[in-house]
Parts: sequence; structure tokens; C-alpha cells
Amino acid sequence: MKNQLPENKEPIIKMKEVSRWYESSSGRFYALRNMSLEITCGEYIAVTGKSGSGKSTLLNILAGIDHPDSGEVSFSGKTLNEMSETFLSAWRGKSIGIVFQFFQLMPTLSIRENILLAMDFTGKIPSKEKEERVKTLLDRVGITAQADKLPSSLSGGEQQRAAIARALANDPPVIVADEPTGNLDSSTAASVHELFTSLVNDGKTVIVVTHENVAGSDFGRIVSLK
Ligand code: ADP
Ligand code: MG
Repeated sequence: MKNQLPENKEPIIKMKEVSRWYESSSGRFYALRNMSLEITCGEYIAVTGKSGSGKSTLLNILAGIDHPDSGEVSFSGKTLNEMSETFLSAWRGKSIGIVFQFFQLMPTLSIRENILLAMDFTGKIPSKEKEERVKTLLDRVGITAQADKLPSSLSGGEQQRAAIARALANDPPVIVADEPTGNLDSSTAASVHELFTSLVNDGKTVIVVTHENVAGSDFGRIVSLK
């Protein structure tokens, strides 16, 4: 495990003293407390911690889906706190690819259409390049033959590959994944991790929440939440 940040690189994501809390009858409950984190371009980070330790809260805050109650998050020097929801949603589509445990593909659309939909949402990829890009992405994740099938006819591992292709649709610099292998058998999980490693080798910044033992893994840094 490498613990050092790559040298001479500006962080792509900065979290400064971020807290997220919920009020209940028994008082304030912190899902995340005073967390500071700097993530550099090209890092491969595992976020670990037991259930309820705030892993999903952290990812959602990094992706601008959830917002801190105090503290600040910035992305390439821009503070997320100051963006409107409309701006945030457009920003997220272009900047961050999100992968979920249960894939969350649109069940009535083919794999190809799922990826096209993600492209349509941001308009970042020129129309005449979309179909070719779908092919390239499906080839990249190794499921070219599944392009015209519905998600339900794919195996779990194939669905997760499709979801990763969708996350890459708009060529975002950052990919976040919340327990992406939590629903897969161990050898399929290993192949999904290999895919993430190859994305890091291509220059992407990848942040993965995982329950698995990360000892001996390819992660460059482990962030463990208590
Ligand atoms: P993890 O992903 O590590 O399992 P989460 O980030 O989902 O943890 O949740 C962290 C803590 O915040 C948990 O104790 C959870 O119950 C609590 N929490 C999350 N969302 C809410 C909410 N909407 N209302 C109250 N508590 C919440
Ligand atoms: Mg979670």
C-alpha cells in the first residue's frame, strides 16, 4: 500500500472540515464529523469502515448529491457549496461518474440505450460521436456482445460492467463507486476491481467504498472511517 500522495499535483477534490449531521429526539447525530480530505488527480482510493460509519454520506457529499451541514467541498478549485442545484446536476453529469452496488441501470432500456441516455443528459459528447463511443466503452469493459440486451438478461458482473461504462459515458475525470462489488461473487468482484485499476492507469481518479479486505489490493490509499 502506497500512502503518499503523488508529488507536485493540485488536489482535484478538497474537503475541509466537513460535517453532516441529523437531529433526533436524543440530540445531534453525526454521520460525518469534521472530515478533511484532499484527493489528487489519478489517485485510487478505498473508503472502508463498518456499516453506518458514513461511507455513503462521504461519497454523496463528494459527488454533490448530499451537502455538508458545515465545512466546504471543492472540485478543481470550485466550491460546490456555492453552486445551484441546476448547476450542480449539470456539473455532476460531466465531472463525476457514479457506480452503485445494485447497478441502477434503467430496466426498460438496452445497455446501449442506458449509455446513450447518460450522454444525452449532459450533451458533452457530440451527437455524431455517441454511437461510436458506446461501442468503445462496451469494448473497454468487455461486454460488446450485450449491447442490445436489457439489463435483466445480463449477469451481475456484466450489469456492473455496463454501469461502469455508463459512468464513463461523459468521460468524467472522477469515478465514485459505493460498494460496487457488494453484490458480486469474489472472482467477479476481482475482475471489477481490475477494471477500476485500468481506469486509474488511464488517468482517472477512482474512489471506491468497499467492505472487502483491502490488504494486498491495488489501492493507492485507504481512507478508513470510524
Ligand atoms: P455507511 O454507508 O457507512 O453504511 P451512511 O453514510 O449510509 O453509512 O450513514 C452514516 C450514518 O448516518 C448512519 O448511522 C445512518 O443511519 C445515518 N443516516 C444516514 N442518512 C440519514 C438520514 N436521512 N436521517 C438520519 N440518519 C441518517
Ligand atoms: Mg453505505
